[in-house]
Amino acid sequence: MQDLLIRGARPWGGQTADIVVRDGRIAAIGPDLPAAPGAEIVDARGCLAIPGLVDAHAHIDKTLWGTPWHPHQAGPSLMDKINNERQVLAGLGLSPEVQSARLLRRLVACGTTHVRTHVDVGPDVGLTHLHGVQAMRDKHRDWIDIDIVAFPQTGVMIRPGTLDLLEQAARDGAEVIGGLDPVGVDRDPKGQLDGIFAIAGRHGCGVDIHLHDRGDLGAVTVEMIAERTRSLGLAGKVAISHAFCLGGVEPARLESLIALLLENDIAIMTHAPAGPTPFPPIRLLHERGVRLFSGSDGIRDTWSPLNNGDMLERAFLLAYRSGFRDDPGIEVALRMATYGGAQVMSVADYGLTVGSAADLVLVEAETASEAVAYHPPRRLVLKRGRVVARDGRALLPDSE
Ligand SMILES: [Zn+2]
Repeated sequence: MQDLLIRGARPWGGQTADIVVRDGRIAAIGPDLPAAPGAEIVDARGCLAIPGLVDAHAHIDKTLWGTPWHPHQAGPSLMDKINNERQVLAGLGLSPEVQSARLLRRLVACGTTHVRTHVDVGPDVGLTHLHGVQAMRDKHRDWIDIDIVAFPQTGVMIRPGTLDLLEQAARDGAEVIGGLDPVGVDRDPKGQLDGIFAIAGRHGCGVDIHLHDRGDLGAVTVEMIAERTRSLGLAGKVAISHAFCLGGVEPARLESLIALLLENDIAIMTHAPAGPTPFPPIRLLHERGVRLFSGSDGIRDTWSPLNNGDMLERAFLLAYRSGFRDDPGIEVALRMATYGGAQVMSVADYGLTVGSAADLVLVEAETASEAVAYHPPRRLVLKRGRVVARDGRALLPDSE
């Protein structure tokens, strides 16, 4: 691969500099760097350079991306949305492999270089979604890095056979075991949490639990997750997604939950949910040192037509719903869409430093806050040093 010399970019947080990309890595950052013979030179004046965006909570197996517009029709409750999804997906008969590949083009165009996707596992679909997304991943390893969470979308204890399927998913290569409202969906928090933590412990997987339950129900669930994280020695490998309860409990209870999250190094994911839904207090958690990350959640699917896979726009939504107007606050949101997700996915060589993998995004903006505020089309996206998108378009061949 020929060298790439990026001229005059502003690395996030730094001064204007040139960036040399060689053999898939950032080889040098500094002023007026010489071009190696044959190097491609990119004029990046006026562009901010940020590390590749990380969508660390998506559901790429069941997106409707690339299909005719599907008017939203689910009812308001969580179970309404789950039941509606099963009905619609069964009717459409879409392939998880094809759908996730269609969405991939959009994610690459937006500058996403890493995805953690929750993939449905359950008695109705078995492991077909897992195997479909794995097949897609195998064909696109040069374009994006994907981690898979085996996700029991229809419940665990209320769907006999689901734990066995999750165990098989771990054997088949799922990196993370998911869960779903152990109280609200299963009415059996001990059963669900003991079951999924045992599988994670046996297979060395992480755990990432969707927790929509609010108030005390959610708070007790956080406490039960923390107990199991400690007893199985899984500190640093557990995440709680949504955690609406952190935005709705009284301050003293919140402080005790924060202490548990810190003690057990449990990360929190929020995508800044729509509407009046309570969600975690991002600035407070960040200041306390809780690890935070974000993701698109469902991208144009039966849950909502609005999410579109752009993680810069996601950072905007995080800041907007949190009421952040100051640069430090907006940058916390961007860190959740970059470094926070990379840490949760254990990406070792991530960042804008010499020696890091050259997973880079150039975007026309003066500062990180401006990039979040206006999230213009990405000028250039690199994946391990290779140009994978230009001017808002992914460079995947049409046949892909
Ligand atoms: Zn989700």
